[in-house]
Amino acid sequence: MLAIEDLHVFYGGIHALKGVALQVKRGEIVALLGNNGAGKTTTLKCISGLVSHRRGRITLDGRVLSGAPPHEIVLRGIAHVPEGRRIFNRLTVRENLGMGAYLRSDAGVSADLDRVFALFPILRERLGQSAGTLSGGEQQMLAIGRALMASPRLLLLDEPSMGLSPVLVERIFETIAGINRQGTTILLVEQNAAMALAVAHRGYVLETGTIALSGTAAELAENPQVKRAYLGD
Ligand code: ATP
Repeated sequence: MLAIEDLHVFYGGIHALKGVALQVKRGEIVALLGNNGAGKTTTLKCISGLVSHRRGRITLDGRVLSGAPPHEIVLRGIAHVPEGRRIFNRLTVRENLGMGAYLRSDAGVSADLDRVFALFPILRERLGQSAGTLSGGEQQMLAIGRALMASPRLLLLDEPSMGLSPVLVERIFETIAGINRQGTTILLVEQNAAMALAVAHRGYVLETGTIALSGTAAELAENPQVKRAYLGD
């Protein structure tokens, strides 16, 4: 579904991605692991068109995505849940969810709103509340809900567990697995490698801008290097 080949990104003189290559197949959850600064967020931003690359190619369903503006990439079926959630604090929950569907004119919007409420019932209770007054966990649910309102085929999730209590982390990961079972393909960036590998089908490990390892989630979870560096064994 998504193919990235030889991706090179520079921030001024910093060579942040050095030939990243990865693939996401339809129906998969693919985890992208790596330490701070490895280039995980940059990879997701490139896919969304928020950061441009100097070399390489990104394709979706065999068609080139590279160079398309972010709104067109959303229209082609990719939605991004950014690191730090980036919800619109002063808008209500309802307005935030509406922003996720901003580009849509099809008849499926209200069904997707019901789907978001089924996944996150608390959001229905908070509809008229300013998003900035929600708890951290509720804000993460809203950020995921907003992305789902774009009706994506591919969902990019950047550190969904960040700052959440262990119980909420479990719930968010259960929901991620549920969203995938409903048919949405997911590329998941996570510091919490144990949780990410528990829900993912396959994974990649990014080290200083290069893919250092890849394999099924089970292979990576058993890999001594991954165990030592990312699973705390
Ligand atoms: P984190 O988990 O800390 O977000 P990451 O793996 O997502 O890490 P990136 O945020 O993609 O890593 O950063 C990759 C490299 O690019 C790092 O060296 C970082 O300092 C650098 N970088 C990221 N954004 C910028 C920017 N806007 N300007 C300059 N350098 C940047």
